[in-house]
Amino acid sequence: MIYDLVVIGSGPGGFDCAVEAAGFGLSVALVEKGFLGGTCLNRGCIPTKLWLGATSAIEELHNQAKMKVASGEVIVDFAALQGRVQKHLTGTRKAMAMQLKKLGIDLFEGQGSLSGEGVITVATAEGEQKVEYNKLVVATGSKPIFFPGLEPDNDCVLDSDMFLAMETMPKSLIVVGAGFIGLEMAQVAHRFGAKITVVDAMDRVAPLEDPEVSKALLSTFKRWKWDVLLQKRVSGVRTVDGKALLTLDSGEQITADKALVAVGRGPVTQGIGLEEAGVTLQFNQIQVDDHLLATPNIYAIGDANGQIQLAHAAAHQAHYVASHAAGKIDAPYASGNVPSVLFGAPEAMRVGAMEHEAFLTDFETCQTSRAQLAANPMAQAHASTQGFIKVIWSGGKVVGITAVGHDVSRLTTAATLIIHQGWTAEDVYSIIFSHPSLDEALLMALKAERKDVQ
Ligand code: FAD
Repeated sequence: MIYDLVVIGSGPGGFDCAVEAAGFGLSVALVEKGFLGGTCLNRGCIPTKLWLGATSAIEELHNQAKMKVASGEVIVDFAALQGRVQKHLTGTRKAMAMQLKKLGIDLFEGQGSLSGEGVITVATAEGEQKVEYNKLVVATGSKPIFFPGLEPDNDCVLDSDMFLAMETMPKSLIVVGAGFIGLEMAQVAHRFGAKITVVDAMDRVAPLEDPEVSKALLSTFKRWKWDVLLQKRVSGVRTVDGKALLTLDSGEQITADKALVAVGRGPVTQGIGLEEAGVTLQFNQIQVDDHLLATPNIYAIGDANGQIQLAHAAAHQAHYVASHAAGKIDAPYASGNVPSVLFGAPEAMRVGAMEHEAFLTDFETCQTSRAQLAANPMAQAHASTQGFIKVIWSGGKVVGITAVGHDVSRLTTAATLIIHQGWTAEDVYSIIFSHPSLDEALLMALKAERKDVQ
């Protein structure tokens, strides 16, 4: 048979696309070479959040103990936690497989590669299978990338996949790369009592965020006695005598039980016949037009097209592509403002433009207003009052919201809606913010005096 739609990759992009397309009545096949759920479920968003969730009581107790209202110790059994993670992942994969079956989506297990007009070849355990399509969706995701000298050896030098598969948590950890992946994992290791060293070539942690957010995060990490080495280039990291040995360009050396290399991720697009099929790659990213099409009948979504490496962005693109392939829409793809969140405690949340970005496009009317979490009852109740919410205005409308501090990820959807609706100062009164809530800190930031961006 010739499928209406074949999808390669079952991460949040590919799986959602297959499910939605089947919901629209298309005949669909899904090809997956690894586990159903892709990076997000098996070695990304979900295991990291299970780790953070299981250890959050440690941080909460620490904060309450500072108020002298609680004492004691929360002990998290890492082996038990790893067991729970595996159970959770297995259960979720099972549920996903059942959903595919229920929707009549054929699952081909094996590596798929393009092998001629309208055909892919899947290398299954039973041998090669040809699968024919009218339209193809490439949702092959991404994998960790490394610079020379930073390659993991799965002994003491690990990438994020290897780190998540550890059987014991190290007592000391070097994290190379102060982006979200490295910082989330460092927070977990910190909660287990590991001594943390973070090294980055940039001049601040979370370098893609508002500089004030980076500053707030850094001050927390310093309070936790992390060694944060910024503007330091790593010339190499390797296992020596059962320890990770990191050498900086300056010649200085640092050792720890393990080193996590988290310097970025790159698309999985090589060796599967994409270019031979007319797909253009740039830095391995699949180039797509404004309908997410790489050729007239091949779409590319999620991490593979390199537009944004976030699960919800992949899922949003998946919905569009399924609708487009089913003939339900023809308008160009529009992601709107894609929220991004650093999870943990503190958290960082950002939607829309940051202050410096808004200033570049509108230096005449760009303004900011802000609120400190110190005045918020919920932050006070959790004894975690460091942090702030900053609102960016342009032409009298909210165009960006950035926050850092306890639980600020809760504000993500409200912030996204506010920007999507282009709130003005008057709109602040169009809904009621519940009390007491962290949302009130957002309300306070929206109502606060606005200052021109200099
Ligand atoms: P993937 O999830 O990478 O899935 C691609 C799938 O394609 C894989 O299963 C792969 O096996 C399969 N595949 C590849 N090539 C082939 C082939 N030739 N044949 C068959 N199958 C193939 N994002 C968030 O939004 N929030 C978070 O909190 C978050 N945390 C993260 C934490 C970590 C540690 C990591 C690593 C990532 C995190 N991400 C997070 C990013 C998120 O996981 C990715 O953006 C998301 O998984 C991308 O989805 P995708 O569908 O494009 O690809």
